[in-house]
Amino acid sequence: MDNWRIFGETIAPCETRRMTLRVPMGDIENRGEVYPGRRTSRGYEMPAIIVNGARPGKTLLVTAGIHAGEFNGTPAVIRVGRELDPAETSGRVILLPCVNTSGFWTLHPRTLPEDDFNLNGQYPGKPDGTVGERLADFFVREVFPQVDFMLDLHGGSRGERMTPLVFFPTHPKVREEALSAAMALNVGFLVESRATKGQYSYAAHDLDIPGLLIERGDGYFCEREWVEADRRDILLLMDHLGICKAPVGMFDAALNRRIFREAVYLESDVDGLWIPAVKANTPVKAGALLGAVYDFYGEPIREVRAERDGHVLYVNTSLSTPVGEFHVAVAWADSEVKM
Ligand SMILES: [Zn+2]
Repeated sequence: MDNWRIFGETIAPCETRRMTLRVPMGDIENRGEVYPGRRTSRGYEMPAIIVNGARPGKTLLVTAGIHAGEFNGTPAVIRVGRELDPAETSGRVILLPCVNTSGFWTLHPRTLPEDDFNLNGQYPGKPDGTVGERLADFFVREVFPQVDFMLDLHGGSRGERMTPLVFFPTHPKVREEALSAAMALNVGFLVESRATKGQYSYAAHDLDIPGLLIERGDGYFCEREWVEADRRDILLLMDHLGICKAPVGMFDAALNRRIFREAVYLESDVDGLWIPAVKANTPVKAGALLGAVYDFYGEPIREVRAERDGHVLYVNTSLSTPVGEFHVAVAWADSEVKM
């Protein structure tokens, strides 16, 4: 195994290196404040754990905290970083436990607080742009070229309830490799995604790097069992990729795994008060009431019903659903891929 030149450092074989990345922000001033008290003269700070294994193999990137209020991925990545033994590792691993540190320290649940940039929706960014554009560009230029496979950990945000699922890219060059990796996880719902502008989806579609996005946990909470489940999925993925062995028995062979062609987000077309009638992870029949929209006087505006048979993946439990906010996300039964 060779030395590894990455992020301006040299990592020896059998070495784990903890480092704070400082993504250059050039001369951005006010909008470049990383978080109160921290200026960007030293760059946008992001923690990284870099593992150079004992033997050659694949290089895996694991990111969490791209949406900073989707918490459980962060402690899961930290735990894997502490338990992964480079002497027992084939290949290399880049662990980024919290990408959106400015959102994390300012309790900003999704986008970057500096410029409202969504790192899971506005790739590829640009080198002389805003904070978010520069971060995306940093991944495109400095991180993705090092990587053979990537995993991005997310969850439901504030006000959302969901069932764990894994998105895999639709692009034909990477679809099969990503899907077979998704089948190696302990996640019951596998959903094909047509997204192309997010962290993993841009890498999949534009750079032919297969990857997965796990959604687990919700509501701005960080429950212990979600952290443990994310940790297990990281270990199972590394086992699948031949990077290290997951403990025997960790893979849940009895779990019912279902593949869907898409998740459909039913969005509000009116500013209204949303009262859901269903819970996440429940089947619905065509015509079933999913929820209703009211005004501030309790007058009904409309009902939202299932067009077809399906399975509810996400429910928005936030009362406020302005135009464009989603009500529920459903996988229609006729989009299920039979195995
Ligand atoms: Zn997210």
